[in-house]
Amino acid sequence: MAWKLYGYRVMKFNPELKEIKTYEAGKPIELVSREYGIDEKDIIKLASNENPYGVSPKVVQAVKKQLNKMYQYPDDSMYELKNSLATKFDLESTNFIIGAGSDQIIEFIIRAKANKNSPILSAKTTFAMYDIYAKQIGSCSIKTPSHQHNLDEFFKMYKQHNNISIIFLCLPNNPLGESLDKDEVFEFISKIDKDTLVVVDGAYQDFASFKDSKKKILPKELIENFSNTLYLGTFSKSYGLGGMRVGYGVANQSIIQTLYKLRPPFNVTTLSLVAAKSALEDEEFVQHTIKNNFKQMKIYEEFAKNNQIDFIDSYTNFITFIFDDQYSSKKIFETLFKKGIIIRDLTSYGINGIRVTIGTKEQNTKFLQEFEKILKA
Ligand SMILES: *Cc1c(COP(=O)(O)O)cnc(C)c1O
Repeated sequence: MAWKLYGYRVMKFNPELKEIKTYEAGKPIELVSREYGIDEKDIIKLASNENPYGVSPKVVQAVKKQLNKMYQYPDDSMYELKNSLATKFDLESTNFIIGAGSDQIIEFIIRAKANKNSPILSAKTTFAMYDIYAKQIGSCSIKTPSHQHNLDEFFKMYKQHNNISIIFLCLPNNPLGESLDKDEVFEFISKIDKDTLVVVDGAYQDFASFKDSKKKILPKELIENFSNTLYLGTFSKSYGLGGMRVGYGVANQSIIQTLYKLRPPFNVTTLSLVAAKSALEDEEFVQHTIKNNFKQMKIYEEFAKNNQIDFIDSYTNFITFIFDDQYSSKKIFETLFKKGIIIRDLTSYGINGIRVTIGTKEQNTKFLQEFEKILKA
């Protein structure tokens, strides 16, 4: 006999979930291909800040060699990767926690420190996951009035609320692209109470420090100067490992040990650990990526100037265009989408703008051609 739903009612879930907007990832190529019947190879995805040059061939080789290890659980101590990271940053293995993306570390931090009575503090327009994890545990985020990072505003809000658990500084900031000088960041942190955790999300730090050395924030310098800080790094952007899900947190041992209490066992796969470790051994690939990124970014900036479009000076691998009322970012997004060009519309952030990942020369040329057609139409 089939089950029948008598007196069907919508199931009740924890009320804090009502406040959460589901995170919208950049639309995957497979979906666009299915929906519009465009060949996957003709689709240009400039929506998720992935590395347009792919991944180092050395990483592919290293992973291939380990494929037959997938029947075993990973090395849960993550000894090799932690060791390589410790060498790279001149720190100890005990200063690191590795996650399934730095996203997972953000989750640990928030679960460890924020709660209903202790909100987090962030810039108005920044990485959406801070907010989502905070709401999941019944906390919330206080935001500065300005979209971009303004440390005077951060300090004012921090003082005003006096119950802030974590301050998130996304440097450089996603999805806007601005960054701050190390000196002003350190000056700011020195004024913050030692019981408030200051997180520097450095997902694009290698791009920023290439463009302007004043923006460079080294994890070692950060955590050795301030006991209440944590640095976040990821392999998803310059290293080209978005699909492997590896990121890390760097802090003093005591903070790391606390975060370990929240870590599920085997949270990073064997192949991901191998990929990340070997990615660290091909610095040349990363440098090539970053150099070309800024070379190509110039073309976008020229384009914006020629077409009188506002953009935010970017320290990342994407550029953000802001429109006046003449254009609608949503319409621009939709028109490009139907042509198989995927970018990020910022309407959901309350901004009439788009974020475009800097792609390869070919991808950028194609995008700018189609973009120009829309602007001239
Ligand atoms: C991409 C990104 C991350 C983390 O990505 P993972 O793939 O989870 O490592 C974190 N913060 C910012 C600002 C990002 O743009």
